[in-house]
Amino acid sequence: MKQNGTLWNTPAKVLEETGFETREVLANMKEVDGIGTLTIDEIGDEHIATSYDTPLRPDAFDLSDEAKMDIIEGHFREIMLALGLDLADDSLRGTPRRVAKMYVQEIFNGLNPKNLPKVALFDNKYKYNEMLVEKNITFYSNCEHHFVPIIGKAHVAYISNGKVIGLSKINRIVQYFAKRPQVQERLTVQIASYLKQVLQTEDVAVIIDAAHMCVSSRGIQDQTSTTVTSHFSGAFRSEAKKTELLHYIGKLEA
Ligand SMILES: [Zn+2]
Repeated sequence: MKQNGTLWNTPAKVLEETGFETREVLANMKEVDGIGTLTIDEIGDEHIATSYDTPLRPDAFDLSDEAKMDIIEGHFREIMLALGLDLADDSLRGTPRRVAKMYVQEIFNGLNPKNLPKVALFDNKYKYNEMLVEKNITFYSNCEHHFVPIIGKAHVAYISNGKVIGLSKINRIVQYFAKRPQVQERLTVQIASYLKQVLQTEDVAVIIDAAHMCVSSRGIQDQTSTTVTSHFSGAFRSEAKKTELLHYIGKLEA
């Protein structure tokens, strides 16, 4: 699949050089990969992200969650009606509201910064300065091009610069960024970027291995492929640290 090939490698390098300037990264992506020449359908079908930030409108959070659910409920009812479904049926009657609640309160609640996990930093009492790896973090996300599930595992590692965070926070950070319409590469970078910010270190690595339902249940209908994306920065750019990490998460033999 294209998303774990050359498309990813170049921007990762650019990222490091530009210090996360999305505009510059994007400019480079366009130049290298010709995104600017693709049609809207091609961008979606190839699962190409256009930026590292989730594209949000400036007024994204002007409406209350309740108001958003009302709007989505109405529109989802229209979708069901257009498909020819009988909403008088007891089984279908509550579906528009259920979908609206699920979107706003569950599977897309990572869009709203108010849900960003609060992270407390602790002193690293044990002076443990080796890498800490939190592996096999299961997450459920949704492809922003088809709104169908992406199911995968994230492996996250960091080397403390004197501060540590609670282990469950790493899980929560992964879940927060997963609960958005996503592209796997963006999810990888968003998790890494936030961890660098809270841990105040560049020594962070994120590897994600995920199955995309839009690849398995429709389109090419490949049931077995998964997509791997990675972001290594700071000390993790050295071959030794990379190898050590891959060994811990059991990916070396691959
Ligand atoms: Zn998709």
